[in-house]
Amino acid sequence: MISFDEAYSTVISSVRSTGCEKVSFIESLNRILAEDVMSDMDMPPFNKATVDGFACRKADLGKDLEILETIAAGIQPSKIVNAEQCSRIMTGAPVPEGADTVFMVEDSAINPSGKVKYTGSFTKENIAFKAEDIKAGDSVLGKGKLIRPQEVAILASVGCTTVNVARKPIVAVISSGDELVEPFDKPGISQIRNSNAYQLLAQLLRAGALGKYYGIARDDKDATYNLVTQAISECDVVILTGGVSMGDFDFIPAVLEKAGVNILFSRVNVQPGKPTTFGIHPDAIVFGLPGNPVSSFTQFELLVRPLICKMMGHDLNPLTINMKMKVSFSRRLTDRQAFIPVMITPEGMAEPVEYHGSAHISALSKADGIISLAPGKKSIEKGETVSVRQV
Ligand code: AMP
Ligand code: MG
Repeated sequence: MISFDEAYSTVISSVRSTGCEKVSFIESLNRILAEDVMSDMDMPPFNKATVDGFACRKADLGKDLEILETIAAGIQPSKIVNAEQCSRIMTGAPVPEGADTVFMVEDSAINPSGKVKYTGSFTKENIAFKAEDIKAGDSVLGKGKLIRPQEVAILASVGCTTVNVARKPIVAVISSGDELVEPFDKPGISQIRNSNAYQLLAQLLRAGALGKYYGIARDDKDATYNLVTQAISECDVVILTGGVSMGDFDFIPAVLEKAGVNILFSRVNVQPGKPTTFGIHPDAIVFGLPGNPVSSFTQFELLVRPLICKMMGHDLNPLTINMKMKVSFSRRLTDRQAFIPVMITPEGMAEPVEYHGSAHISALSKADGIISLAPGKKSIEKGETVSVRQV
């Protein structure tokens, strides 16, 4: 059995790039940039007024100033501002030549002769200078960056309307188990609904992958083999859930081997998720996740999601916050590394959710994050600082 850290590095070093494709920047949200994006212009492109007011020389503040013209945003000034002159200017308009300060309209008074005077006691320049944010040719976004709405704004502002992004990995989801029925059906005696497949498809969507559902493989070697080989030939990654434990009908590892998968590990020293299986095939990377929904969820977040991001050239950096424990927590067995679902209380503390074991899906629904307890560590004291990873 290997440690979680060894499992993680085995998975990450098996990464295969998905390549790239071009999309419209309008459809680039949640995609990963496949190349650096450069600016085609200075930003701001000209010295720009940041307030509505009057553009003049700093030395003339407090004097009566002749008003030369009104410069609206989008209009080029037509007059040079000389001593004891100014131009009325709107936010976003180019500052006229000769002016080095814009005072706010709120700090001004017009006298009967039509001249204007600064009436405040202190003013900043109120000018955003040409190229102070970005110079033409500067890299504004780096390869591997996740595109959020903020990045869409940058793409728009540099005119990058077609973006080179990583192709989304196509990921097969196969459930396994004779006890499973689909959510649309009412389970009979001794049956349960298949929740893992849909949980995984949702996790994949959130991770930016294209999930492809292959249905339920019955606990039958040949049927499972056929489904697995089809999925391997059609997808970049294949995820199976269930059938990886030590039960009489848990033959996923054997089927994977028969399908030509080189299994790199099949037990990880974690709780939940010990039977997590991982292997590589020339055509796909394969995960066998435990059937228990909490285990499947957790191991997807900890192992599969970072791989999916890496395949797109992105290093997953989940939000992790240090906070104090609201209550003490202890466990009986300490041999494995534990991942414990916690909620964040209104006062900003971590509190383990009521958790009856790896089948308890409603525990996950209450959880805001997970904390990790290293092998050998028996308890966490109330008030101790823990690192909460958002899930
Ligand atoms: P297994 O890994 O096949 O031994 O399954 C472990 C536990 O998870 C059993 O209680 C299964 O009934 C349950 N389980 C397996 N697959 C699923 C699934 N797709 N959805 C919900 N529960 C499952
Ligand atoms: Mg099973």
